[in-house]
Amino acid sequence: MMTVYGTVGHGEPVRWAELKPEEFLRRLAERPVAYLPMGMVEPHGHAAAFGLDMIKAEYLCDEAAARFGGIVAPPQAYHIHETGFHSVWLEEVVGEVNPRLGGLPPDVVMRSLLFQLRVCVNAGFRAVIVVSGQNGAQGDLRLVAEEFMKLVPVPVVVRSDPELVRGTFPGDHAGRYELSQLLHIRPELVDMSRLDRVNSDPLGRFAQNPDAHEATAEYGEQIIEAQIAQIRGLADEAGLGTADLPTLSFDDVEPAWAAVERQRPSWVSYGSVSG
Ligand SMILES: [Zn+2]
Repeated sequence: MMTVYGTVGHGEPVRWAELKPEEFLRRLAERPVAYLPMGMVEPHGHAAAFGLDMIKAEYLCDEAAARFGGIVAPPQAYHIHETGFHSVWLEEVVGEVNPRLGGLPPDVVMRSLLFQLRVCVNAGFRAVIVVSGQNGAQGDLRLVAEEFMKLVPVPVVVRSDPELVRGTFPGDHAGRYELSQLLHIRPELVDMSRLDRVNSDPLGRFAQNPDAHEATAEYGEQIIEAQIAQIRGLADEAGLGTADLPTLSFDDVEPAWAAVERQRPSWVSYGSVSG
């Protein structure tokens, strides 16, 4: 069976951006859950598109909304990078070449997420499931969610996509795991014949994992389906927050940001780790 990208069976969009008011309000009344995809452009080797992380996060959110109800919030398409352990990683797997990377400082992304949560609650959502296609900084995203929830009685769940299948499918970067995911979702964005360029191309390895040759669409489907099932469980488990809530102003949310800021030294992506 062919899956129609981002729509339910009869062709109704599930993305907030693609919904008209009538359908938005109906979907919201049926299940006031927002799925918020996060990703970025970054090197994924020679065979795969830069946007792998964003593409899979949007796909997981689209499918969850289409199958289980809810609406996909506008994505956050730039992500935390170039600080903390990420800078070490970049040096290791990309080296001196231009990574063509969509990185932002952690505080910019964290603060954006906080106010995106405000947007979701003000729009009427009573649970938010954040799915990050980029793995690594989700501890910082969860910190934002925790501080937000101290102010606003609406559950917010944050998971990176490898976390959704931890213990079942080992995650990686631009290797068997990630290329399989993309081969399943958007096969036209993968060209497996380019994998061996790591040895001859001026870009070098470009963050490609050595086991990328083992990627298959079938394995990708297993991963993705397990992740969608896990998102369903998380949304069911999270439940829904208080129905009647006042509209939150920017100022209403600032105390949560102040609390996040106070914990800056313990942020996962804080500072520039060396070595
Ligand atoms: Zn990735």
